[in-house]
Amino acid sequence: MASGDVLLDIHSVSRSFGDVRALDDVSLQIRENEFFALLGPSGCGKTTLLRVIAGFEQPDSGTVTLDGQDLLPIPPEKRAVNLMFQSYALFPHMTVERNVGYGLVCDKVPRDEIRTRVGEVLATVGLTDKRDALPKTLSGGQRQRVALARAIVKRPRLLLLDEPLSALDRKIRGEMQMELKRLQHEVGITFVVVTHDQDEAMSLADRVAVLDRGVVRQLASPMDLYRRPRSIFVADFIGNSTILRGTYGHGQWMADGVPPFAVADSAREAIAIALRPEAVTLVPEGSEGSRVRGEVVEVFFQGDHALCQVRVGGEMFLAALRDHGDHALPRRDEACGLTWADDAAVPLFEE
Ligand code: ATP
Repeated sequence: MASGDVLLDIHSVSRSFGDVRALDDVSLQIRENEFFALLGPSGCGKTTLLRVIAGFEQPDSGTVTLDGQDLLPIPPEKRAVNLMFQSYALFPHMTVERNVGYGLVCDKVPRDEIRTRVGEVLATVGLTDKRDALPKTLSGGQRQRVALARAIVKRPRLLLLDEPLSALDRKIRGEMQMELKRLQHEVGITFVVVTHDQDEAMSLADRVAVLDRGVVRQLASPMDLYRRPRSIFVADFIGNSTILRGTYGHGQWMADGVPPFAVADSAREAIAIALRPEAVTLVPEGSEGSRVRGEVVEVFFQGDHALCQVRVGGEMFLAALRDHGDHALPRRDEACGLTWADDAAVPLFEE
């Protein structure tokens, strides 16, 4: 877990390319030993922020400090920061051992020390038996490990990873996610990972900053982001939900085409509410406690649960069905009711 001390302090950083504001007054702090994720759709500014931290891009304004020291005048190779690129190009003619030790050779570290440090790092990533192999003989996951080993062998204070797992197929991705998390604990380096994959960010990170068009929309733990998104953008981007725009009045939520239903007073200033599928229960049509009625549009079987799309007036609701056991799943066009607890509706205050 994060130890709490601020390691990297990004304050009011902006960067434009022509008319595009890639970063718009971004402020955030990354703590020592934290696994931090920058998450957002393509073009939101994630890579630009990473490049500013690494030193490949200068901001138009703002400050960036590492351990209280101004980072911006320091050239990339002198920063205690290492960037692992999206395409982790390994030298094809060098063995795994030489690929990993390359940066230390460049830094003129004594040969014995290089051998020891490379040996340790290869053991950490589980590649000791591949030390003499050439990259072309390795699997995608193994090449990924070599790139990681090469990045951590220099013992940076901060390791930046740009879409580190995007080149891997789904199964290896899952394994590497666990591996990354284990590694981060083991080596005690602060990790900042850039990803557009919300599942990846949510499962890896201690905290996540959600970016949208150069602006940090919300910065929170994965659980808080999921349970308490503040905006329609974040609620929509993280997980599935039914989002109902509307207005609050006398303890009720009024949305077009949906009968008014009770909500908590915290929704007073909201512009919309979100209902997570697991908070919505499908009940027989007309049964007691049913808040709205609708028709089943589609059912998606997902193994441990099924996701059910239900049309209610002009809106589409999502309900997760668990423990359906041997019961048949609802059929398309079947009439049904939906219910949820009063406090299940999460108020959203911004677009
Ligand atoms: P992706 O996930 O697609 O890599 P991203 O979130 O990392 O996207 P950035 O690469 O940071 O986004 O780009 C943010 C915006 O800035 C985009 O609109 C992009 O086109 C623009 N941009 C980034 N670098 C440059 C550049 N060198 N010249 C011109 N425009 C740029």
